[in-house]
Amino acid sequence: MTTPPRRKKIYEGKAKILYEGPEPGTLIQYFKDDATAFNAQKKAILEGKGVINNRISEYVMTRLNTIGVHNHFIRRLNLREQLIKEVEIIPLEVCCRNIAAGSLSTRLGLPEGEQLPRSIIEFYYKKDELGDPLVTEEHITAFNWATTQEIDDMLAMTLRVNDFLSGLFGGVGITLVDFKVEFGRIYDGDFSRVILADEISPDSCRLWDSITSEKLDKDRFRRDMGDVIESYTEVARRLGIMKEMPTVIQGGVQ
Ligand code: UDP
Repeated sequence: MTTPPRRKKIYEGKAKILYEGPEPGTLIQYFKDDATAFNAQKKAILEGKGVINNRISEYVMTRLNTIGVHNHFIRRLNLREQLIKEVEIIPLEVCCRNIAAGSLSTRLGLPEGEQLPRSIIEFYYKKDELGDPLVTEEHITAFNWATTQEIDDMLAMTLRVNDFLSGLFGGVGITLVDFKVEFGRIYDGDFSRVILADEISPDSCRLWDSITSEKLDKDRFRRDMGDVIESYTEVARRLGIMKEMPTVIQGGVQ
């Protein structure tokens, strides 16, 4: 793995590092190969993951921008980095679910794979020490994590992302089971606007082969199923974006 460049580090998370950008209001988002699950109790390095997620997220964010779902992506700089808009992160993970899986199956006793009566959006408070607890709009407004207007904007944008991603993946034989997005504020004087931030990749989505139901996402890592990188690569290949990344396929990612 290449050494991250020597720029001022702003923040280091589990899978990404943020560096100061070339001009005010921008940051550089670096995708690491680190994989974590269960609140970082399980850890591994998956060689090439950062490169694939950088490319998949670039593709998805670019496509979302073209349909007016504003997000922080500006452009990809190299295999592992993208230039992004600096935002004030809203401390919420917004999950959208179409099919029961993961924590929803556990919490409500729903068999994994059961179609939900409609898409369900949930908010989790981003707080590692607490294991990102599920919260309601009451908590969000009472503790000033976001305003009711911002909640409405996040709900509307998440549904648009869900419709768009369901179609995008559906078209290449992949079922979008659920996904997680994050949002941030950008300021224009006193006025602030909520835009989509973070990443959209097989780390943050559940993606099942539409015919075989084979998992093509981070559950392969969470559940020790093996072939994690192969599955992420398969997602990129089906999206038609593998051509520019021959070194990933060959395994020798720098
Ligand atoms: N998710 C994520 N980051 C998290 C928690 C969840 O990207 O910290 C994604 C996860 O990959 C899945 C969706 O959000 O696509 C719903 O996850 P769930 O609540 O079922 O959590 P899990 O069972 O994966 O812990």
